[in-house]
Amino acid sequence: MEPALIILLVVGVLAGVTLALVAPRLRGRGPELEPPATRPVGRGPATVDRPDVEDEVDVELGEPPVAPTPPEVLAPLKPSFRERIGKARGTVSGYLGSILSRSAIDAETWDELEEALIRADVGVGPTTDMLDAVRTQVKAEGVDTPAALLEAVKDEMKRRLHVADRSLHADEGKTNVWLFVGVNGVGKTTTIGKLAKLEAEVGRTVVMAAGDTFRAAAAEQLGTWAERAGATLVRGAEGADPSSIIFDGITKAAAMGADLVLADTAGRLHNKTNLMDELRKVRRVAGKEPGHVTETLLVLDATTGQNGLAQARVFTEAVEVTGVVLTKLDGSAKGGIVLAIQAELGIPVKLVGLGETVDDLIAFDPDEFVDALFSAP
Ligand code: GDP
Repeated sequence: MEPALIILLVVGVLAGVTLALVAPRLRGRGPELEPPATRPVGRGPATVDRPDVEDEVDVELGEPPVAPTPPEVLAPLKPSFRERIGKARGTVSGYLGSILSRSAIDAETWDELEEALIRADVGVGPTTDMLDAVRTQVKAEGVDTPAALLEAVKDEMKRRLHVADRSLHADEGKTNVWLFVGVNGVGKTTTIGKLAKLEAEVGRTVVMAAGDTFRAAAAEQLGTWAERAGATLVRGAEGADPSSIIFDGITKAAAMGADLVLADTAGRLHNKTNLMDELRKVRRVAGKEPGHVTETLLVLDATTGQNGLAQARVFTEAVEVTGVVLTKLDGSAKGGIVLAIQAELGIPVKLVGLGETVDDLIAFDPDEFVDALFSAP
């Protein structure tokens, strides 16, 4: 045999052996996983258990690759006050720099504080009341720096916001009904949609009752949210009696063994007497067996500021409101309305809307809110 032919044969055999040894190793490598940018659904801590890719693909030579465990269902991070209430923070923080730049607490410091709170929609009465309490404390404790004064204001705000029970009530084994009232456009339908998803996540079966029969699009809109949340929708013809639709929703929920009925209502304000009569009727009918009304939530648009308070007074005359949902706190709202609602109406803010998407409804946390309001922009 020619020497060149022999060399070629040897090289060919060596290449074949190398390929046979290396190929199974290459096949044993699983796909590289990017760490998920989002966290698992639920109300737990914002941590992600990343599947341990290395362990799972470290297989014996030649064995088929093991598929990595798929990450849990993912949802975007919950919004935080700090990132969302930009306008409100801006209103307060405009004054903070000036207050902090003074070497002591003087008359102007108090004036600026007062102006900041009134501009932030806290309202004149609640502002005066709160600053009187802080003045007493400042004197008693010998607080003498602007920084310590601001801390005292924050503490006083938190203390005033801490008095109420903010939980949403539902009794096990009953057909719980949560009624949503408020004028048109404040965000009732959107809130019901967001809340249905949260309740479904904690294992509740939800029925939505489309009681806003005066707005053609309301039932359609609710239907879209129901699909997203896996909730059942009960609706009627346009112009139908809202009470009867809500009662149908409750009957349906009882028949299904559902835990919760989220009932939308109409909020036309052009005829106050009619609206109030209708709301009273809705409340009465919703409480008839098997209905068990555990929350009547007044939805207020935070961007309407002190006007929202006037609306609240009208609604609380008609029905016993158990909590407020404050929507659009992410918009041009100045935030202080939270304190005004609690101070003037004695109704706790239970939920807040921080945006238009399904994950933008969160439980109201007074500490987090006050800290965000006073944080630098
Ligand atoms: P309803 O008439 O009270 O049922 O009000 P809708 O639910 O139809 O909401 C009116 C508008 O407000 C819609 O465009 C919503 O997307 C918007 N909206 C509701 N909640 C929020 C919120 O928390 N933030 C923002 N930015 N928009 C909201």
